[in-house]
Amino acid sequence: MSFDLDEYRRRAERFCEELSREYYLHLAGHKPELEIEPIYQGYADLFAREDVERLRELCGAATGDDEKRRLRYLLQFAFDGLLGLETRSESAELAGLEASLEVDPGDGAVPYRSVPIEQANEPEAERRAALEEACNAVLDQRLNPLYRTALERAHELCRALGWPSYAAAYAELRAIDLEALARQSAAFLEATEDVYATVADPQLGRAGLPPLGELRRSDLPRFFRAVDLDPAFPTDRLVASFADTLDGLGIDLRGQTNVHLDAEPRRTKSPRAFCSAPRVPDEVHLVIAPTGGRNDYDALFHEGGHAEHYANTDPALAFEYRHLGDNSVTESFAFLLEHLVEGHDWLRHKLGLEDPGPAAAHARAVKLVFVRRYAAKLAYELELHGPLATLAEMPGRYAQLLTEAIRVPWPRASWLADVDGGFYAACYLRAWALETHWRAALEERFGPSWYASPEAGEWLRSLWRQGQRLDAAELLAETLGGELDLAVVAAELTRPAD
Ligand SMILES: [Zn+2]
Repeated sequence: MSFDLDEYRRRAERFCEELSREYYLHLAGHKPELEIEPIYQGYADLFAREDVERLRELCGAATGDDEKRRLRYLLQFAFDGLLGLETRSESAELAGLEASLEVDPGDGAVPYRSVPIEQANEPEAERRAALEEACNAVLDQRLNPLYRTALERAHELCRALGWPSYAAAYAELRAIDLEALARQSAAFLEATEDVYATVADPQLGRAGLPPLGELRRSDLPRFFRAVDLDPAFPTDRLVASFADTLDGLGIDLRGQTNVHLDAEPRRTKSPRAFCSAPRVPDEVHLVIAPTGGRNDYDALFHEGGHAEHYANTDPALAFEYRHLGDNSVTESFAFLLEHLVEGHDWLRHKLGLEDPGPAAAHARAVKLVFVRRYAAKLAYELELHGPLATLAEMPGRYAQLLTEAIRVPWPRASWLADVDGGFYAACYLRAWALETHWRAALEERFGPSWYASPEAGEWLRSLWRQGQRLDAAELLAETLGGELDLAVVAAELTRPAD
């Protein structure tokens, strides 16, 4: 069978462009429907089972490092597409239900998707819990049957293509030793076990919430929201502080003709900030819809990290290195900028906080909750997607692993909805480790105010230029040396706060 690889790459790039522009238009509120089905249908030839098999053969037979790497990125692209295509009716039905369903905590209907925002802004613990209960009932009755059908089909497809399990498929496609990463995650949980309550409880107390052990999951959005910190994070400083920070790094945000910042209020805009890059590096959209408080800063700087990574990627790189590859890399730069707004130095100098202690201590506690949650999620997803999984036991395992890691009674109902496709949890975990290395190197070379150094900006741009050619472990080894390990994240979070 003939297979025109160059033509495949050209069409794959056009597909990525159309898909990400469609997401951008919908999420930015320019277009009410998200019409991805026609795009998938127009490019269905990219995701035929034979294409996946052919790419897998080519990848196995490739001898050059570069060719093998490009083929592996293409293979993951094709396989993700095949899974997406085969589960598209469930995905469309789920998206439709999530957008239209309402839940009633007892005092009137609330849109299903806005429950976390409602909980974050709800001072009454009992109403937060009632919202959670109503949501879990909707998951159990309406959404989980669809999630389960899609999961079973994905598992079957992996076996049909000769992999022993979904976990084995993604370990090969991502070239990540997921078992080794799970061992690092277990070590992270162990290493932070003793400090967890010490770091979290005072912050929970400051937010008017009960300590671990008494805390409920429905209280977590309220904790992350940190209403008491609102005065420290004024909405009218949000965009200016981001542009100003980039300026210090020698990057003129307004002069970047390829970065389109959209901060306009629009009723139909997604409440989540996002970055969408239909053409890397030529067309990058950074979209925010400020709702107030620290979450806006976290979100803008996180998505801004993605935007700068894409916008500074070398246009001469192959499609695979501009659009595909290991997302642990882009997430590490997103975390790097996000972490700025959580640190003493930046808070003092850029937002003029006399005492950045409370904001920094809150951010540290939130990060510990998140990394512990993802560590537990990876362990769970390896069981769920492993060769020996018994689905009937999985809701219980999910609740058990998350309850142990977070010390909050964790509901079973989200055992499927809480799973990121293709082991994306592994990307976040690796990104936290890589970000810790980037930050340590920047502080060592340019001091604690590294974000105000054009030389630091030049160094970052030299990393961004490489797109995602190298994976997170390779990029670290090549630039700073050393092995990617979550131990650096544990070490930082267990050190006494400065
Ligand atoms: Zn991200």
